[in-house]
Amino acid sequence: MKNRKTTTDWKDKYLAALEKEERDRKQQQQIMSLLARAVMRISLIAAGVDVKLDQQLVGLRSMLSEDRVTRRDLTLVVNALEGQVKRLDSVKSERSKQLVHAFKSLVAQLNALKPKSVTKKQLNQFEKHLKRRTSNLQEYSGLVHEFSQLQKKVLDSQDQSPASKPFWHSWVPDPSSQNGGTVANDIPSNPSKDNKIPPATDTEIDDIEVIVAEEVDESDEDYIKVDSTHPKPIIVDQISDGLDLSDDKIEPRKERDPKQFTEEPSYSRLNQHIRDVLSELLDQIETPPLAIENYVAARKQIESGLPWYELIPTLEDISMVVVSAFDLRQQEFEQYLEHLNDRLEKTHAFITASQQAQGAGVEASIQFDQSIRENMSAMRLSIDSATELDQLKTSVNSSIDQIVTAMDQHKEGEKEREVTLKKQLNALVKRVKLMESESEIAEKHLEEQRQKALRDVLTQLPNRGAYEQRLEQEFERWKRYQHPLTMVVCDIDFFKRINDKYGHLAGDKVLRIIAKTLVKRLRTTDFIARYGGEEFVVLMPETNQDQALKVVDGVREAVANCPFHFKDEEVSVTMSFGVTEFVKEDQPDKVFARSDKALYAAKNSGRNRCLLAEME
Ligand code: GH3
Ligand code: MG
Ligand code: MG
Repeated sequence: MKNRKTTTDWKDKYLAALEKEERDRKQQQQIMSLLARAVMRISLIAAGVDVKLDQQLVGLRSMLSEDRVTRRDLTLVVNALEGQVKRLDSVKSERSKQLVHAFKSLVAQLNALKPKSVTKKQLNQFEKHLKRRTSNLQEYSGLVHEFSQLQKKVLDSQDQSPASKPFWHSWVPDPSSQNGGTVANDIPSNPSKDNKIPPATDTEIDDIEVIVAEEVDESDEDYIKVDSTHPKPIIVDQISDGLDLSDDKIEPRKERDPKQFTEEPSYSRLNQHIRDVLSELLDQIETPPLAIENYVAARKQIESGLPWYELIPTLEDISMVVVSAFDLRQQEFEQYLEHLNDRLEKTHAFITASQQAQGAGVEASIQFDQSIRENMSAMRLSIDSATELDQLKTSVNSSIDQIVTAMDQHKEGEKEREVTLKKQLNALVKRVKLMESESEIAEKHLEEQRQKALRDVLTQLPNRGAYEQRLEQEFERWKRYQHPLTMVVCDIDFFKRINDKYGHLAGDKVLRIIAKTLVKRLRTTDFIARYGGEEFVVLMPETNQDQALKVVDGVREAVANCPFHFKDEEVSVTMSFGVTEFVKEDQPDKVFARSDKALYAAKNSGRNRCLLAEME
């Protein structure tokens, strides 16, 4: 009994377990089916994000649509998907970087327009949180919207400050475009025109939900309040529509109510013609920044039909544009003339300096001067006859270029002339030096010749000519200082006999020995010359006749004692001396005569003696 009951229990338990397993299996199938549905739905959401991912998702969906999905199949697909998702993550981060870069460059463009400080602060805030916000796809639309609002603020503030030159400059519609173009199209042609705002695609516009920036300082009333319920965020290009010059939203500067006016029938016939003329006029004027407002107003009126009551105000606007443009050109012209004047002054200074410069090149200077004058008069002619500034600029610039070229050529010529001159000068210096050295040689030679001329060849004593010179000098000195000066005239006794007895050559030898003896015995301050033949003359400065007599007597004695020999034969040679000093009114000839007279007396009184001359 007990065994049967046990068997029944086991059977029940088995059946129950089978039932449970069946239930679990069904439940698992339901979960799998639910999971498959969920994955299918999610795969639909992810569609369109990436091409490769799309392919994977199509495979996944077709697999999921089958009745039985095995765990293995699912594992394979999920693993493949995981790889794609990882790749997409890195793509997303790269896109985020690009977006940050694009926004930063747009912010820089707006900052370049020098926005108000409060707007600048908002731009900085916007830029500061770019990195974090671009990492979230959901933030994109909010970013675009915020930026568009900031851009509008900056542009609006620019609208109120027409002096901002670079910006307004771009507002001048292209004359070639009759429609004038919109501001939105012109904005990128600002200094940073290459950084165009990337256009948003329809997908982005439709799919992106506006998100309010979390960091917005709510207390700052200038900050953009974004309507999160806005179905389609305003994108940058759309914002700029608000600034379209052709848009009716721009009000005329002076509000005029058309109802106050009635149509002028005659005007309507002329309207088109007037509009054409005015439009053409505006096309031809280069509008200065200060007159942009008038330009825009006039252009708008012309394009919107120019009702007759707007004609006068429009003409006023155009006249403002014309006057401003003329002022601008006037200023340009004055600046140009100042510049021209400056250049001409410099040119004139150069010419003056050139003309004053020393050296050769007179001919070149004349040619240069002529060239400058021709160019100047051509320039003056063109200034007088010019009707257009551009034409004048061209012709004057060409004249100045020619002047500058002439100046350069002249300078070059001057350089060449200077080089040639230097070469010539160097050659001249060399020649002068050569001549100097030649002249020195010649002078030396001459001096040698002169010395030779003053020297006796046989005895090497000063000759008579030298004596004459020295006598003159000593006489002058004696006259001035009255110091004693003595003259001695001496002659070899019976010299003829020597010649006769021993020959002329022996006589010459005797002459040379006598000369040496005289030089040796007399003082260095004494001057001794061969006067002629066997006769000598001695000048003894600072010596009176008594002193001189003693000296020459010593000389006489030395000569007389000189051992002359001829072939072992002793030869006696003596000399006689006449001595006298310069006194009172003496003249050289007189002194010589006196001395010579004394010599004659010495001869006559026996020779080999010295005698003082008798004073008369
Ligand atoms: P005195 O005592 O009176 O002077 O007799 P002197 O012979 O010397 O006088 P004189 O005038 O009669 O003769 C001079 C001679 O000296 C004549 C001449 O030939 C000689 N004589 C002159 N000059 C030279 C010379 O240069 N060489 C030689 N060898 N003899 C010369
Ligand atoms: Mg003699
Ligand atoms: Mg004699």
